[in-house]
Amino acid sequence: MRAFATDETSTMPPSSRPQMKPYIEAIHAYVPGKSAGDDGKPLVKLSANENPLGCSPKAMDALAEVASPAGYPDPDATLLRETIGKVHGIDPARIVCGTGSGELLNCAVQAFAGVGDEILFSRFAFSLYPLLAQKVGADHVLAEDHDYAASVDAMLASVTPRTKVVLLDNPNNPTGTFLPRAEVARLHAGLAPDVLLVVDQAYAEYVDAADDDGGLELAATQDNVLVTRTFSKAYGLAGERIGWGTGAPHLVDALNRLRGPFNVTTSGQRTAIAALEDQSFVDSSRTHNAAARARFATAIEALGNHGLRALPSEANFLLVLFEGALTADAALRGIAQAGYAVRHLPSQGLPHALRITIGTDRQMAEIAETLRQLCEAAR
Ligand SMILES: *Cc1c(COP(=O)(O)O)cnc(C)c1O
Repeated sequence: MRAFATDETSTMPPSSRPQMKPYIEAIHAYVPGKSAGDDGKPLVKLSANENPLGCSPKAMDALAEVASPAGYPDPDATLLRETIGKVHGIDPARIVCGTGSGELLNCAVQAFAGVGDEILFSRFAFSLYPLLAQKVGADHVLAEDHDYAASVDAMLASVTPRTKVVLLDNPNNPTGTFLPRAEVARLHAGLAPDVLLVVDQAYAEYVDAADDDGGLELAATQDNVLVTRTFSKAYGLAGERIGWGTGAPHLVDALNRLRGPFNVTTSGQRTAIAALEDQSFVDSSRTHNAAARARFATAIEALGNHGLRALPSEANFLLVLFEGALTADAALRGIAQAGYAVRHLPSQGLPHALRITIGTDRQMAEIAETLRQLCEAAR
């Protein structure tokens, strides 16, 4: 059964009905990570970079305490912005909250680009980005990567007079690669002041580099830098749909014009505040992730003679490349047989790779063992 009706169910000739804008008609909707096999069998979902530890128990308590859903939420998420401001040392007036950071990325592109403009990002950047450009009729330009990572030189070389927005997911999804602070600064320095640089920091909490500030200094001091963060990953609140962004007042103003007026629910605001106040949960998520990711990377390294290679990752997933007898396609099927859904992104030019979210120790050991057996069988 299909989840949505399609054109085949329509009885009217296409010319006699409302006409979609051609650039909207060209959109292929975002494909989320799977949680079931092709046969419908439920799988453990390591395909959407969710937190295997769940969320803070304090956030769970806050969720249970919402008295009644009858009233509209605070349209300005005042207390949440104040709490974010306190935790990160940012003036709450320079913060805007969204229905996930996805809403804010949408708004940023919508505010600053349209038909005839260009949105620039790295070749293996987040698969949502082309959609953001298409929705406003802008063209997207892919800068060449450097071994799958964003290349500042290639990005700067790809800027044209039509470039209005540059999107940088750092760490990058799906590759996990990370540009150090100095490289992000160099990218910013190479852009004209009227080009918006969006630093999408969905995985900021997982970054090891002690001196990384997640682009926040640029956002605090520059007129053309927006940083976005989310509660969907390390905070474990993806189902509540809460994100935030920070930048110069005129950027925050633009997003406030475009966002939904009651875009963050009452429960979302409450749980996010409770989650922020429990940084020990974020710390334990980071610690677990770093250790489990390192162990899994070592297991992949041991399969190097079979053509497997994991890209260096600063996020809560690894992109594993299959360059030997075992194909990513076969590995995807084998891993599903073992009960797990991971992400295959052939449409993004990565038919030879799988993005595997770092789950619990037991889950990662099982996937590593499955891959070892698949490699042996494929020789
Ligand atoms: C998961 C993710 C997001 C977060 O999306 P939300 O709308 O906040 O859930 C944003 N950017 C990237 C690169 C991501 O992987």
